[in-house]
Amino acid sequence: MTAPYTLASREDHPANTIVHASGAAIGGPEPVLIAGPCSVEDREQMLTTARAVRASGGAILRGGAFKPRTSPYGFQGLGEAGLELLAEAGAAVGLPVVTEVMEPAQVEIVSAYADILQVGSRNMANTALLKAVGRADRPVMLKRGMAATIEEWLLAAEYVLAEGNPRVILCERGVRGFEPRLRNLLDPAVVPLLRTLTHLPVIVDPSHAVGRRDLVAPAACAAIAVGADGVMIEVHPNPAVALTDAAQAVPCAELPALAARLRAVARAIRGEEAEALAS
Ligand code: PEP
Ligand code: MN
Repeated sequence: MTAPYTLASREDHPANTIVHASGAAIGGPEPVLIAGPCSVEDREQMLTTARAVRASGGAILRGGAFKPRTSPYGFQGLGEAGLELLAEAGAAVGLPVVTEVMEPAQVEIVSAYADILQVGSRNMANTALLKAVGRADRPVMLKRGMAATIEEWLLAAEYVLAEGNPRVILCERGVRGFEPRLRNLLDPAVVPLLRTLTHLPVIVDPSHAVGRRDLVAPAACAAIAVGADGVMIEVHPNPAVALTDAAQAVPCAELPALAARLRAVARAIRGEEAEALAS
């Protein structure tokens, strides 16, 4: 059977795609850690966080400058000033950065500062945006829509690929469930399922999946255990004062231990080959 997402499908592309982004490789033998705050807030916050991500062996720094908030009265992000602070912090520690782009008109400015363009859950089906990032010279991290089927998600990836951008990374962040105690419903089986369907790298965002900091580490471990190519985790120097998603922010001070746990899980499931690569 021929999949409707011909470019994203594994049928004609049996080998895994490795996405290279300014020195980071997503989809290779080693899972990557992407971490940073939900929102870029100020220089000190970004530099402190960037140093913690670097010291923890992180590969990519995240931080939102244009924020898709549920309420119009919530903090909307610092915009271009936030992009500048994110890029400055990434450069200070030598890490590439990923940040969200919300509309086609922002692609140029976000591309000027970011190594990877993030398309958020609320925009997964925004075909104008998908086409615009498909024409950009930057890798695209495409989050799953909060009520999207796997096929809808892969067809969204297809929009980007069809415009000529081959560097697409899928990011599972959970879907709407019926359980109010968890922000979303994270099904780890999605990762091995995607392996059968697509050659694109798959990462997991446990932070938006669970919505509370005490469950981020176990959910991240589960993602690595099922073979995810990486995890994206929200961290903050002082979660109590975080402007957005405070409840799910892991303190920067806890990131080194969390990263070590993830490496242990990766070694356990990838066996001696990963062990040799890590040493
Ligand atoms: C985010 O990563 O900052 C974000 C808004 O996530 P999502 O689009 O998955 O809700
Ligand atoms: Mn967030």
